[in-house]
Amino acid sequence: MRCLRARYVVACDGLHSGVRDRIGVGFPGTDKPQDFLLATVRLDGLPGEPRVLLTFAPGGVLLLVPLPDDEARLIATRDSADTAIEPGLVRRLLDERAPSSLPLALREVRRAGSYRVSERVADSMRQHRVLLAGDAAHVHSPAGGQGMNTGIQDALNLAWKLAAVLGGGADEGLLDSYDKERHPLAAALVAFTSQLTSVATMTQPALAEVRDTALAAVGAGSAASDLLSLRISELGISYGADPGDPLVGTRVVPGGDWAHRYGWTILVPGAGPAGSGAPRPAAAVRWGCTDARRAVLVRPDGYVHATCLPGPEEIDAMLRGLPALTPT
Ligand SMILES: Cc1cc2nc3c(=O)[nH]c(=O)nc-3n(C[C@H](O)[C@H](O)[C@H](O)COP(=O)(O)OP(=O)(O)OC[C@H]3O[C@@H](n4cnc5c(N)ncnc54)[C@H](O)[C@@H]3O)c2cc1C
Repeated sequence: MRCLRARYVVACDGLHSGVRDRIGVGFPGTDKPQDFLLATVRLDGLPGEPRVLLTFAPGGVLLLVPLPDDEARLIATRDSADTAIEPGLVRRLLDERAPSSLPLALREVRRAGSYRVSERVADSMRQHRVLLAGDAAHVHSPAGGQGMNTGIQDALNLAWKLAAVLGGGADEGLLDSYDKERHPLAAALVAFTSQLTSVATMTQPALAEVRDTALAAVGAGSAASDLLSLRISELGISYGADPGDPLVGTRVVPGGDWAHRYGWTILVPGAGPAGSGAPRPAAAVRWGCTDARRAVLVRPDGYVHATCLPGPEEIDAMLRGLPALTPT
């Protein structure tokens, strides 16, 4: 065994996090009784379009997602009485739930397993010097496929703050904003995916009919479809907290040559940095252009930290107000 001394610990050790348990952070929530089958299969007859096949048959849900190398991911609700996961069970689920217009022939079940949905959020994502990220902090139904993305966003939100505290001279209080920004999103995500799962697995015929009609409308391309995409992609997340400046906390759509590096960026309206006349700040800040009328200071994780009038003095003052400029 090796012993390491560190100022901070980031617990990203998954659903059964030993770190979370050892520091005594609660992980309240529920475990749903519904069993799901998760399998990687090889099939004949799966069309390339639509990319994802989702059906709600009387017997339950079936989701088929084509994968590279002629494979497909199959997820289906299943009866817990079907203990053995064997090709016969997968074939039966396909026969019962795939559209009859789609003659699917199972060639092989490459891997298969079963899972149950847990819906839990840690009481806090920070306890003193320990920070929780990913499934150690929140776990939810895979409906919508957002678990990994959310964990990556936790890491992005946290990494620049830790770097600023450890190497950039920022006050430790900056780390409080990690829990403040990420915890409400985790709680909202668990509630949202729980609703999605309940809708997907509902069995009462009248309600199922309402669901199918609504989903057909969403699938046909509508404002509801755009909203759902924005929600599931998590691109609409905002950390907005400043009523005086609605841009603060919003996500900046990456663009131009400033988009692909992880660091602080200042965006100036129109002509770009040369036209702003502002003194170039520390090399740690990159420059870019924006359509906004104000100069915009973007955090390393892509969210607006502050804005100001685009004059050189204002920009200079905004940069001096930064908690810390971490090296990129
Ligand atoms: C059926 C299913 C489908 C999913 N589909 C999607 C999807 O389409 N899109 C999506 O974004 N997410 C999806 N997810 C969720 C996604 O898989 C998880 O959210 C993600 O893997 C969590 O990553 P993590 O790093 O936080 O935890 P984990 O992936 O659980 O990693 C934790 C790691 O910590 C290690 N570890 C634990 N304890 C210790 C220890 N004491 N010492 C050393 N190492 C330790 C473990 O070995 C493991 O490697 C799905 C989940 C399920 C169950």
